[in-house]
Amino acid sequence: MTQQHFDVVIAGGAAIGSAAAYFLTADAGFSGSVAVIEADASYQFCATALSAASIRHQFSTPENIRMSLFGTQFLRRFSQNMAVDGDCPDPAFHEGGYLFLASASGLQTLHNNHQLQSSLGADIALLNPAQLQTRYPWLNTSDLAGGALGLSGEGWLDAYGMMQGMRRKAIAQGASYLHNKVTGLDHTAGHVTAVRLADGERIHCGALINAAGTGATALAATVDIDLPVHARKRSVFYVQCPQPLPGCPMVIDPSGAYFRPEGQGFIMGISPPADQDPDATDFDVQHALFDEVLWPTLAARVPAFEALRCGRSWAGHYDMNLFDQNLILGLHPAMDNLYFANGLSGHGMQQAPAIGRALSELIITGKFQTLDLSRLGWERILHHQPMIEHNIV
Ligand SMILES: Cc1cc2nc3c(=O)[nH]c(=O)nc-3n(C[C@H](O)[C@H](O)[C@H](O)COP(=O)(O)OP(=O)(O)OC[C@H]3O[C@@H](n4cnc5c(N)ncnc54)[C@H](O)[C@@H]3O)c2cc1C
Repeated sequence: MTQQHFDVVIAGGAAIGSAAAYFLTADAGFSGSVAVIEADASYQFCATALSAASIRHQFSTPENIRMSLFGTQFLRRFSQNMAVDGDCPDPAFHEGGYLFLASASGLQTLHNNHQLQSSLGADIALLNPAQLQTRYPWLNTSDLAGGALGLSGEGWLDAYGMMQGMRRKAIAQGASYLHNKVTGLDHTAGHVTAVRLADGERIHCGALINAAGTGATALAATVDIDLPVHARKRSVFYVQCPQPLPGCPMVIDPSGAYFRPEGQGFIMGISPPADQDPDATDFDVQHALFDEVLWPTLAARVPAFEALRCGRSWAGHYDMNLFDQNLILGLHPAMDNLYFANGLSGHGMQQAPAIGRALSELIITGKFQTLDLSRLGWERILHHQPMIEHNIV
């Protein structure tokens, strides 16, 4: 029979839930019990497993930049720190860089972001069109005014491997993973007392973390909290190109389309127009978006893509915060032990280590210790003060 009380229960055991479980159980100042309740033991539909798995420091808000800088540090030490019984997991972190391209209208924003990013320690170089052309002869720069290239620290990784590494380490440090679905919360006087599970069991808890990704909104609704997070479908297309693109980083076109190397080919994607981006209910790949928008856009940027061949593609769901496309982190004022870490809006893989650490600090000490993320709390939502992140891909 399942243990009936845990000091911390985490609903959702993918990147965010496992990062929180890892940091809590790694903290010498914490001796409590931790249970992670995960509805899908296969993890096949979670955003973590379907992610484009890239990390960048090129954001427009200090918090997002700092969280990703920590993500890089964490990845560089991942193998040693996640070792279990001498087995060192490899997150396949490749520091291939991000290249944000700007047309004339976007150049000032690129420069402003660059100034902020550099002041916080990000290793980003500004390139003019001639420098872009020399460095990337395969790139059409005719309509570009510049670009910003991450020289170190940015790149891509194995998202599933990273999640499993943290999960395995958390278990080795004492966390319990339970295969079940949290269907409701018992609460009294603004305090969660227990989670109700799909099999009818109940687990009492000292604190609860909502790390349920796109499932977080339904969970919040069981205690009458309106979480502005909705599932948005994003397709990732795998293509092969007959011509190599030497030195290709993760490239972000001014249109918002992206591509980067993956194995013997490339992955690429683009968000659909806002008026064609409903709540996602299935995982069907958006082939029309590829044919009508993505391919023509990227073939104009990289002429070699005219001849590309589309291979195995997939679609996943962003947990999109429709309020301001940023993380919602920490306690809701109506509940004194219910912590949120939701609305990651497509950049949560790289931020998972910083978010897991922040949750652990909040639960153990009552406040942020290493990185002040208070601006990402519920107050901005409740007071209608969006914290806009301009660099959403
Ligand atoms: C196509 C795509 C591309 C992306 N590219 C990037 C990228 O390049 N870089 C980046 O940083 N991020 C990227 N992201 C975003 C990133 O993958 C997510 O932000 C991150 O994985 C979110 O992790 P999570 O643990 O919050 O959510 P998820 O990975 O979705 O996990 C939530 C888990 O909660 C479980 N769950 C849900 N409800 C319940 C319940 N009631 N009870 C118990 N368990 C429950 C689910 O089964 C699931 O396993 C991308 C996402 C997608 C979809």
